[in-house]
Amino acid sequence: MSKKILVLPGDGIGPEIVAQAIKVLQALQRNFGLDVELEHGLVGGSAYDAVGNPLPQETLVLAHESDAILLGAVGGPKWEPLDIALRPEKGLLGLRSELELFANLRPALLYPQLAGASTLRPEVVSGLDIMIVRELTGGIYFGRPRGVRKLETGEREGFNTLVYRESEVERIGRVAFEIARKRDRRVCSVDKANVLECTELWREVMQRVAGEYPDVELNHMYVDNAAMQLVKWPKQFDVMVTTNMFGDILSDAAAMLTGSIGMLPSASLDQDRKGMYEPIHGSAPDIAGKGVANPLATILSVAMMLRYSLEEPEMAERLERAVHQVLNDGLRTPDILSEGMREVGTEQMGDAVTAAIGEAA
Ligand code: NAD
Repeated sequence: MSKKILVLPGDGIGPEIVAQAIKVLQALQRNFGLDVELEHGLVGGSAYDAVGNPLPQETLVLAHESDAILLGAVGGPKWEPLDIALRPEKGLLGLRSELELFANLRPALLYPQLAGASTLRPEVVSGLDIMIVRELTGGIYFGRPRGVRKLETGEREGFNTLVYRESEVERIGRVAFEIARKRDRRVCSVDKANVLECTELWREVMQRVAGEYPDVELNHMYVDNAAMQLVKWPKQFDVMVTTNMFGDILSDAAAMLTGSIGMLPSASLDQDRKGMYEPIHGSAPDIAGKGVANPLATILSVAMMLRYSLEEPEMAERLERAVHQVLNDGLRTPDILSEGMREVGTEQMGDAVTAAIGEAA
């Protein structure tokens, strides 16, 4: 039975980059028999403009019915004055929590062809290949009680709650260990167990989960040290697993080690490996409509989708090889352009990857 993919282009450069990813999917359908059906829906600011809601009920129904979701990006200055409940980002957060997409996978992979794009010295980053596994539906971003209250003195006090159940730590831990098994078999669990009881429990549970994976090495690191080590010697890491907030911060830092925001994909998975796939960057309103956005992060998100939700690892590799080939051929969108390379726009890059996928033998 064919798998269903819900396509949500979103706002800003979203529709431009998603159009390239669709071309690639269609090439895989045409040439290699990828058995998928594409459905389209609205999310974010464009959904608000159309129906007054950044996450329309219709989109939610389609999302529940699909095996995987491909999302462009949401947001932009146009919608910033809106009440927080109506902002485009609510659409994205709503999808993550409604679908219980608790495991956020963010690779920080440096393409050798782009080693010069990093702000760190090439010898520090060349060969960098880290997978950050961030817990996405718990922790301090969702914990209750939360709010701002007035004290007897008249002063206001803001408060949030960091909370993790053992089962939540176990399930994200297992995702990290399973992924490590397909890589270099090393997991670094990042916490603040010296100060926060909640992450003391996190550490204890991670240790317990590690018992189920004797072939994978586990070590623990405090988050402040992890931030330092990421910049000092990032190649020491294979898989990092951490809480929602620590992962939010560390994954952005790790991504930036590669110097190319337009290159990095992400996946957010549920218990059954259904997932939402999206580039890590935003809607880039400054370049929207100009035809210069780099579509490779979105195309590489399709490769993650093939690997994690559609169980088509060979097609994922085929697609990743095609991306390597266009980079080897010297094609570059402006964000990754360097001397001697050929500058191309969004569509040309999409066409080049589509062509590089090739025909079935
Ligand atoms: P951004 O990632 O959109 O852009 C940051 C910079 O990177 C910009 O200069 C942009 O031109 C560039 N850039 C981003 N993607 C690119 C690509 N594919 N090719 C070439 N250059 C690219 O971040 P921002 O400017 O802070 O946010 C813009 C909007 O996006 C905001 O409304 C924000 O809330 C939203 N946002 C959405 C998501 C998401 O949908 N997942 C994530 C982050 C930000």
